[in-house]
Amino acid sequence: MSTPPSNAKPAAAAAPEAVKPSNFLRQIIESDLEKGTYATRRWAGSPGDAAHQAAGQPDPAKIRTRFPPEPNGYLHIGHAKSICLNFGLARDYGGVCHLRFDDTNPEKEDTEYVNSIIDSVKWLGYDWSQPGNDAPYQASDYFDFMYRAAEYLIEAGHAYVDEQTAEEMRVNRGDFSKPGVDSPFRARTPDENLARFREMRDGQHEDGSMVLRAKIDMASPNINMRDPAIYRIRRATHHNTGDKWCIYPMYTFAHPIEDALEQITHSICTLEFEDQRPFYDWLMERLCEGGLLSSPPPHQYEFARLNLTYVITSKRKLAALVYDHKVNGWDDPRMPTIVGLRRRGYTPESLQLFAERIGVTKSDSWIDYSTLEGCLREDLETKAYRGFAVLNPVKLVLTNWDEVMGAGHLEPCTQPSLPHPPEGVTAPTRHFTIGKEVWIEREDFEEVPPKGYKRLTPPKVNADGTTSAGAIVRLKGGYVIECTGCAKDAAGAITEVHAKVIPDTKSGTPGADSVKAKAAITWVGVADGVSAEVRMYDRLFSDAQPDAGGKDFLESLNPNSLKVITAIVEPSLANAAPDQKFQFERHGYFVADRVDHVTGTKPVFNLAVGLKDSWGK
Ligand code: ATP
Ligand code: MG
Repeated sequence: MSTPPSNAKPAAAAAPEAVKPSNFLRQIIESDLEKGTYATRRWAGSPGDAAHQAAGQPDPAKIRTRFPPEPNGYLHIGHAKSICLNFGLARDYGGVCHLRFDDTNPEKEDTEYVNSIIDSVKWLGYDWSQPGNDAPYQASDYFDFMYRAAEYLIEAGHAYVDEQTAEEMRVNRGDFSKPGVDSPFRARTPDENLARFREMRDGQHEDGSMVLRAKIDMASPNINMRDPAIYRIRRATHHNTGDKWCIYPMYTFAHPIEDALEQITHSICTLEFEDQRPFYDWLMERLCEGGLLSSPPPHQYEFARLNLTYVITSKRKLAALVYDHKVNGWDDPRMPTIVGLRRRGYTPESLQLFAERIGVTKSDSWIDYSTLEGCLREDLETKAYRGFAVLNPVKLVLTNWDEVMGAGHLEPCTQPSLPHPPEGVTAPTRHFTIGKEVWIEREDFEEVPPKGYKRLTPPKVNADGTTSAGAIVRLKGGYVIECTGCAKDAAGAITEVHAKVIPDTKSGTPGADSVKAKAAITWVGVADGVSAEVRMYDRLFSDAQPDAGGKDFLESLNPNSLKVITAIVEPSLANAAPDQKFQFERHGYFVADRVDHVTGTKPVFNLAVGLKDSWGK
C-alpha cells in the first residue's frame, strides 16, 4: 500500500452545480408530476383510511416515498442505497420520505435495532420529521386497520379461512407447470368465513391450524396470485402491541396497506418483489373499491439491489458473523453495516456519493468494492487533515546534530493541515519539532538499493575504489540530510540509520533549496512523537462473491483482515477525537477510534482506505 512519498494532490476544483443523472424512477416521477397522477390526494397530517384522509388538506407533499426496514438487525450498505434513493427522490421532487418500521413479524424484532436504524438514517443526513410529527411510522400501528381490511375482504367474498395443513396447501398450490387445485374450504360463505376468522382472532384455534387466504385464482400463471395467505395465527408477544393479537398479517398483505395508509405515491422496492406486484395492485383495487382506502393508491416499482464484491448484505448472515465472534460486533470496522462503515471512516457524504454514482437500474449486477473506496477517497481528499505517522519505525540518528545545532536542541517545524484547503476553509498549522533522533519508515533506508530507489542509501565503494556519497534526502518539513550508514545488531538487523543534517536547509527558509534532495520522506521526532495503536484492515472475505450460489461465506473469511500495529504519530494526532479523519501522508486515510482501555491508553486509528486503489494488486 505504501507509495513513494509525495505531496498530496491538489484538491479537485469544485464541481459545477451537479445535474443529477436521470434514471427510470426519476422518469416515472416526472411523468406522474406532469400528468398530475397524485394531484388530488389529501393528507390529514397522519396515516389513515379514506375517510381520515378525505378530511385533510390537499397533500403538500408532491410525492411520498418510504424506507421500510424490518427492525431485525443493523442497516447495511445495501440499505444505504435504498435510503439515499428514497430520501433523495423525495427531496428532489418536493416530496416527503417516511421512515417506517415494518414490524409486522413479532418474533424477530427488537428496540435495539429500532434505535440503531433511527441513528443510522439520521447520520446519513436524512430527516423524516414533519411539522408536529417526528416519530417514525410503525406498521404495527396499523394492525387494527389491517384486521378491518381482512374482514372487508371476507364480507365481499374475496377471502376465506383455509384449514388445510401446510403440506396440503403446498401441494395444492401447484407449480410453474401445473395449475393449483381449489381448497375444499374455498367455497365457504362469507358468514362462515367471518365467524371462523373471528375465532382465529379470539384465540380459539392453534397456531398454524388455519390461515386466511385471499380468493383470487388458483390457476394463475403467477403463483403469488394463487390465493396467497394474508393472516396467520401466531401466539407471540409483539414489541409494540404486546399480547393484543394472536393473529398477524402476512408481509405481502401488510405492506401495500402500510403504503396506502401513509399516502405513499411511489413504493420502491428491490427486484425480488416484482412477482408480488400483481397482488399489491389487486389488494389496492379491492380496498379502494370498498371505500376503505383513498384513490389513487400507491404503485410499486422495483430496482436492482446492491451487490458489492467482497461484501455480504444479508442481515441474517451479518448476524452470524457477529454471534460467531468472527468480527467484534455489529460496528466492527470490517462490517458493511452503517455503524461499521462509520467506524471505518466512511462519511455520510461518501455514501451519498456512492449511491448516486452506482445509480438505479432494473437488472442485477455487481459493483466493485473499489467504487465504494473511491468515493471515500474523493470525499476525504479535501477534508481530512494531513499528519505524519511512521507505521514501521526505525530510528534515524543525525550524528552531527549536537555539533551543528547545539546539544539537545529541538527545532520547531510547521506544516499545513490541508495543503489545498477548499474555498473559505482555514486549516490549522501543524507544529512539531526535529532533534537529533527521528523515526522514519524502515523501507526508507536500503543498504543495497533496488534500481531507481530514491530514498536513504549509505555511501558506496565503487568498483574503481572511489566512494560515492550517501543519498541526500529531505525530511519533509524539516532539513535536508545526507545518509552516512547504519548500525546493526548481532543478527545483522538494522537498528539505526545514520545521517548528517545539512544546516540552513530547513523547509520554508531561504536556504531550503540550496541543496538538491532526491526525495522527501515523512518522519516523526523521537522527542515529541506519540505511540499509537493502528488497525490495518483488509477485506473481510477473500472471495469476491462470498455467498453467491449458496456458498458458505464463512469458508472465505480472510484470516488477515485485521493486523494491529504500533505506530508513531506526530503530536497533532495525539488527541484526535473519535471519528476525526486524517490523511497519514503517503499511507492513506485513517480515522481516530475510541481508545481501547483493555489494550491501553494509546490513541487508536483505523485504516479507512489507502491513497491509491490497491485492490487486487
Ligand atoms: P436483509 O435480507 O438484509 O434482511 P431486507 O431487504 O430483508 O434485507 P429490510 O429491512 O426489509 O431488509 O429492508 C428495508 C429496505 O431496504 C427494503 O426496501 C429493501 O428493498 C432495501 N434493501 C435491503 N437490502 C438492499 C440492498 N442490498 N440493496 C438495495 N436495497 C436494499
Ligand atoms: Mg426483510
